[in-house]
Amino acid sequence: MPRVCVVGSANVDYTVALPRLPSPGETVSGGTLLVNLGGKGANQAVAARRLGGEVRLIGCVGDDPDGRRIGESLAAAGIGVEGLVTSGEAATGTALIMVDAEGRNQIAVAPGANHRLTVEMVAPFAPSIAWADVVACQLETPLPVVRWALSEARRQDVTTILNPAPVQPLDPDMLALVDFLTPNEHEASRLTGLAVDSLESARAAAGRLLASGAGTVLVTMGEGGVLACYGDTAVHFPAFSVQAVDTTAAGDAFNGALAMGLAAGGTLEQAIPLANAAAALACTKRGAQDSLPGRAEVEAFLRSLGEG
Ligand code: ADP
Repeated sequence: MPRVCVVGSANVDYTVALPRLPSPGETVSGGTLLVNLGGKGANQAVAARRLGGEVRLIGCVGDDPDGRRIGESLAAAGIGVEGLVTSGEAATGTALIMVDAEGRNQIAVAPGANHRLTVEMVAPFAPSIAWADVVACQLETPLPVVRWALSEARRQDVTTILNPAPVQPLDPDMLALVDFLTPNEHEASRLTGLAVDSLESARAAAGRLLASGAGTVLVTMGEGGVLACYGDTAVHFPAFSVQAVDTTAAGDAFNGALAMGLAAGGTLEQAIPLANAAAALACTKRGAQDSLPGRAEVEAFLRSLGEG
């Protein structure tokens, strides 16, 4: 079975659906509460697991009911959570989300325990990095931990993916540890200072990131698909056309599926369409983890397009 180790965040999302968003100082009543598990790390782990990968998550939750709920839910999904450690110093990462009738939202995030993760806490789980075919990281965990995961993976000859979200400046020595860097257009723009809004500008930004040391850059462009750049080559993979109702977690579906496809030994020509298909299907359903498709669904979708 393909093996994926995700090093990243796990959150609980509290969403209140309201007739309208409150102004500062205002209270709007009449909402409905929805509690979901989220965090880019946990979402990407679930995405890879649903596609049939053997998956482990290294991360940090608080010593509280939400933290236990996350551990239990991921374990029930078949994800290895031995590396999901508990911090007594902060609450489990929490997102407070308000959504109005038109789907507009306001989101406040308390990263909590996710930001308490240290290299000392993750070091005992180095065997899970060596165990993996692919290690996938994002930027919701402290940079020293991300750097540790990427360098440990490089040392063990394990393929690395870094989804640079939420975006922050990255040193060239960090980028040099990344085999596949997966910014969306906004992130590619923030990482390079170049405007990214077309295939040409995505290629220019990817060129800068390659020059800074990333192995391959995959710029995800929403319904514009993905531009894959390595060496002097740029290949465009169009997105699959779907009736999108909610693009939340499209990026997580893409990254989890990419990790799974590469761990299975697939080439980019195989792994990117798989990831695009998983992400497109995630756009057809509401929610984050709930919207991530299973293997049978993705295979049936690709077959229906004559690409399976
Ligand atoms: P993020 O969700 O991180 O902002 P993108 O918006 O680039 O990233 O989406 C990631 C991937 O999800 C895209 O490369 C594409 O494969 C897929 N995707 C996103 N939006 C759509 C859409 N409207 N229709 C089909 N696929 C989509």
